[in-house]
Amino acid sequence: MKVIRLLGKDRIELQDIPVPEINDDEMLIRVRAASICGTDVRMWKNGYRDVCEARPLTLGHEFAGDVFRVGANVAGYKPGQRVAVAPNFGCGTCDMCSSGNTHLCRSYNAFGVTIDGGFAEYVKVPEAAIRQGNISPMDADISYQEAALVEPLACVYNGQTLIGVRPGDDALIIGLGPIGLMHIMVAKLFGVGRIFVNDLSEARVRQAAALFPDVLPIHGDVREGLTKYGQRGVDLCVIAAPAPAAQAASLEYMNMNGRLLFFGGLPAGKEIVPINTNLIHYNQLRIQGCTRQSISEYRICEKLVNDKRIPLGLILSDTYPPEEYRAAFENAAAARGLKHVIAFED
Ligand SMILES: [Zn+2]
Ligand SMILES: [Zn+2]
Repeated sequence: MKVIRLLGKDRIELQDIPVPEINDDEMLIRVRAASICGTDVRMWKNGYRDVCEARPLTLGHEFAGDVFRVGANVAGYKPGQRVAVAPNFGCGTCDMCSSGNTHLCRSYNAFGVTIDGGFAEYVKVPEAAIRQGNISPMDADISYQEAALVEPLACVYNGQTLIGVRPGDDALIIGLGPIGLMHIMVAKLFGVGRIFVNDLSEARVRQAAALFPDVLPIHGDVREGLTKYGQRGVDLCVIAAPAPAAQAASLEYMNMNGRLLFFGGLPAGKEIVPINTNLIHYNQLRIQGCTRQSISEYRICEKLVNDKRIPLGLILSDTYPPEEYRAAFENAAAARGLKHVIAFED
């Protein structure tokens, strides 16, 4: 089978390897679509832990396909079923796992990160992932590409759930790549008030305004932009860009009792950010981080997508055969287009 593997820093390759064997407690999924995430790009550019030529890793944690083979002891799934896969699963017994937060388990595993992932024609699903509910059925009229995007959508949903989005909140979203656009989709679903959008790239601001005609674009300085719209501050701010300066400045844009979501990490060496903590104190602000998503959140997003409540198709840019993986990864790394998907046809 074809797989796209990480072999170390700056080294990814399309390889042909045997289809994995499964035991009676496992499942084999025939992958149809796997989308490229910033995490895949970082792992490619920087290398990842002990991954090397002798210990390669198949990348890809956002993927969907069909159940292909089911172990004799596995109930509830059958070959041919269309499914999307939540990538993170835990040890099953620690305090985080037993509270439903298997994604926060200290010894968690994830497809495409700690075990072989979805840029492959077939993926073996371990027993723990099956039992923890990582495999979700998808309706036949949802494309595999959209089904693959349930994962990043669920990361976004997790973040907005944590900051407590309320109907009528005025929101500001900074960073208008695929994640920022999904933040717009989820915020609308939560019934927020005005949505202001900003990005260093003018083209991305224009694109967001074209995709979502009811958002209010801010080009350039955010403070000035808000003032132009007659807006003193916002109740919610999502920073969906790896930009220390945007994080530091965001405290200034907030209304009293405002909530900020620092979504996503900063590049190594830039993670120490000076912030005005008096603004946090005197304006009673809350800064929230978030990472990954619980199975429950993944299932909620799977349902929202199945029910066509989230227009994920808007952020799909291009689909590539596995042979063109390099173009796909390079386009993702250069932030050309939005979501790039590798499709595995018959
Ligand atoms: Zn991702
Ligand atoms: Zn655990």
